[in-house]
Amino acid sequence: MSSVGSRVADTEIGGLVDLDLTGVWLVDPASGRQGPGELVVRDGRIESLTWLAGAEASAIDDRGVVVAPGFIDLHAHLREPGNEAAETVATGLAAAAHGGFTTVCAMPNTTPPIDRAAMVEAARAAAAASGSPVRLLQIGAVTAGRAGEQLAALGELADAGVAGFSDDGSPIQRAELFRNALAYAGGLGLPVIDHPEDLGQTSGAEASDGLIATVLGLRGWPAAAEATAVARDIEILAEVSRDVSGARLHLTHLSTAASIGHVRRAKAAGLAVTCDVTPHHFALTDEWIAGSRRWAWDALDPDTGHARDPWRDRVLEAEPYDSSLRVNPPLRSAVDARACLEGLLDGTVDAIATDHAPHTQVDKDVEFGLARPGIAGIETALGLMLEAVDAGLLPLTRALEALTSGPARVLGAVAGATATPALTEGAVADLVVFDRGTRWTVETSAMRSRGWGGPLLGRALPGTVRLTVAAGRLAFEATATA
Ligand SMILES: [Zn+2]
Repeated sequence: MSSVGSRVADTEIGGLVDLDLTGVWLVDPASGRQGPGELVVRDGRIESLTWLAGAEASAIDDRGVVVAPGFIDLHAHLREPGNEAAETVATGLAAAAHGGFTTVCAMPNTTPPIDRAAMVEAARAAAAASGSPVRLLQIGAVTAGRAGEQLAALGELADAGVAGFSDDGSPIQRAELFRNALAYAGGLGLPVIDHPEDLGQTSGAEASDGLIATVLGLRGWPAAAEATAVARDIEILAEVSRDVSGARLHLTHLSTAASIGHVRRAKAAGLAVTCDVTPHHFALTDEWIAGSRRWAWDALDPDTGHARDPWRDRVLEAEPYDSSLRVNPPLRSAVDARACLEGLLDGTVDAIATDHAPHTQVDKDVEFGLARPGIAGIETALGLMLEAVDAGLLPLTRALEALTSGPARVLGAVAGATATPALTEGAVADLVVFDRGTRWTVETSAMRSRGWGGPLLGRALPGTVRLTVAAGRLAFEATATA
């Protein structure tokens, strides 16, 4: 029987944690080790970590309470400053902790965008004021005002402690600027995080180009709009790398088989390129817009390797055109979703990032093509990942690696300075405790995010987060015992 020590019950959010975990399944992706064990935390430090064997261990498996290092999200939108009705730093960090995340990289596409040192300081102050121990790593804008015209003060932003640079929400359209950004950021030891989209191919686009968009009468969003941007970025990286050895490119929220193929080849050629995929791009598909609610792997025909037809399969159960499914890049086919999982499996994809993108009801509860793109997914990432694990598509350790050591590698020295995602005796405790044996229902009252709605509302997901400890301090604790 597993048990979670009760001493944590007296601790306030932000307080140092004492914890006794017995009969749990420990997963340490950094060392590749997993198995039954015990973990004792005193004053926020891992006092002892014991791997069990023999009779003690025989009743414990990876289907019960699992303990892993705290998750790192490379991509989240916290909406502060400028749109606090959708999310604030405080609610975003609370949502992260509920999702098992102890480190969150906040994208700079706020209003105004975070393109100066003073704004990085303000974000850090908001995180401190929230009382949450979840680490906020700020990403700085690549271009001044995210206007795509000239570089932001990258050196000043680096001095202020940003973890990388991105104009996310938009690509860095001008190749010249992108080239300079890679070189300059590389000199500063930081990655450029690009949102790869050729805007010339996506004007007015609503849903991934294909059967679903055609039948629903939605304007198609070609897969090539992403793949051509990925190819351009990689070609420029290859050239810049010859002069600037530190140049690093991170491609975020890749959603197509072609894009992942480009990254696979670039990595094989030794280029310093990394990438992430989101849970909604590997678990959901465009057929959800038609009203299907089956997982991506169930929408793939194993015989032909093509996406199944949801009309022929009679799996349409929800209303079509649910605007909560409008996202950038759009939900793709089952073939692309499978490519995302295969990329995770073979290491082409370094990390699972949530692209947590909360919006207000006013911005989201409108006609499909008018809805602001985004899914507030930081609290459901673990559940979707576990669905893929349960479907046999991803081993648990690899999946957890993509939420811990994988993103830490992308961040490099920045993450190294703040946290090492590993279960190590003597280290400051930074971990998540979740129960694979129970499901929880996604409902508004359960969510810490202010984001309105969502395609998973009403759905029961595996992996109830019981406890999140960030930097030795309590970040989240489930109230009622399940
Ligand atoms: Zn983006």
